[in-house]
Amino acid sequence: MTQPVMELCEQVVCSTYMRYPVVLERGRGSRLWDVDGNEYIDFVAGIAVCNLGHCHPEVAEVICRQAQTLVHVSNLFYTKPQVELAAALKRLSFADRVFFANSGAEANEAAIKLARKYSRDKYGPGRFHVITMEDSFHGRTLATLSATAQEKVHKGFEPLVEGFHFVPYNDIDAVRRAMTAQVCAVLVEPIQGEGGVRLGDPDYFRELRALCRERDVLLIFDEVQVGMGRTGTLFAYEQLGVSPDVMTLAKALGNGLPIGAMLATEAAACAFTPGSHASTFGGTPLVTAAAGKVLELIAREEFLASVRDKGNHFMEKLQGLRLRHPEKIRDVRGRGLMVGMELAGPGKAVVDGCLKKGFLINCTHETVLRFVPPLVIEKDEIDRLVIALDEVLEEWTP
Ligand SMILES: *Cc1c(COP(=O)(O)O)cnc(C)c1O
Repeated sequence: MTQPVMELCEQVVCSTYMRYPVVLERGRGSRLWDVDGNEYIDFVAGIAVCNLGHCHPEVAEVICRQAQTLVHVSNLFYTKPQVELAAALKRLSFADRVFFANSGAEANEAAIKLARKYSRDKYGPGRFHVITMEDSFHGRTLATLSATAQEKVHKGFEPLVEGFHFVPYNDIDAVRRAMTAQVCAVLVEPIQGEGGVRLGDPDYFRELRALCRERDVLLIFDEVQVGMGRTGTLFAYEQLGVSPDVMTLAKALGNGLPIGAMLATEAAACAFTPGSHASTFGGTPLVTAAAGKVLELIAREEFLASVRDKGNHFMEKLQGLRLRHPEKIRDVRGRGLMVGMELAGPGKAVVDGCLKKGFLINCTHETVLRFVPPLVIEKDEIDRLVIALDEVLEEWTP
């Protein structure tokens, strides 16, 4: 059953993706089944999207009910689910206002546009530069790929959008050197996801916060991947001890329905006025009703505590594995259930080996296995993955 789908895909879908030879059909919690009935334990979660697991019954119920009530009306009108979701995000974060979009890239576009407008309104033209970090990832639209400091996403699409300056991650002196009078914003991930699960240093973030405040430069946190409970707190910034002026969310906010959001303080958000920015599908009643339920479930303290507990368990197990394969595993790092294992060579064969054993995992930045399971994963499922990894690593050479 798999082959015909793969062959048709080659003919009719733009070939922008490298895919694994699996046709997935059904999911429940942390399990997925393919069209041939094979079962998988999912450590990808749609790339940190299905944080509540696949087809969560309470979220599915909200989607069904809302689909039969009202799906879309445009932002020419008010709808309750959108306003209520914004109010909940405000209550649970540093932010005062929210703009809704459909993806992470679009949320970041909104943040970049807001920063330019904020600065231009206050200081006039010319102050539009944005500092971003090496090995960052902010999306694939022209502005967000220009913000992304990775050669491979730029290649072939030049000229890039003007004004982005790249500095090494966790290096405050590099930010100070790049902080010219033209800079209006610093855009940074609290943990770099695509960049290989690299953790932000709290001291760096504290200094970054102070520097941005001093210069009236907007500090923008891209929490598209690390937000929504992934790291064991609702938002990753809570563990850094500083809040941004602007934050972007997407991936897990709708547990699989497409939604992005830009959250901002009152002072920053003021730069957007009627007509400044818009999105046809931004914040439809369907996706915001679902996201409202997702947020309610993830924000519960017992739930977040369980993420930290399972994350610690996972890290301990992987540290144990590292001791068993010291020449093959370079590093193990993570926060909550955002976990990375750096190998001494390209990780593709390890991913393939795990797939054959019924585990979906992912490799990023060439050598870093990234584990971002649904947050509802069980400890015994984690243990089973670690056993499979042990067997696969036994056979693998860097
Ligand atoms: C995935 C991701 C994006 C892009 O989100 P899309 O929904 O694919 O546009 C932006 N920033 C980070 C940190 C991401 O992980």
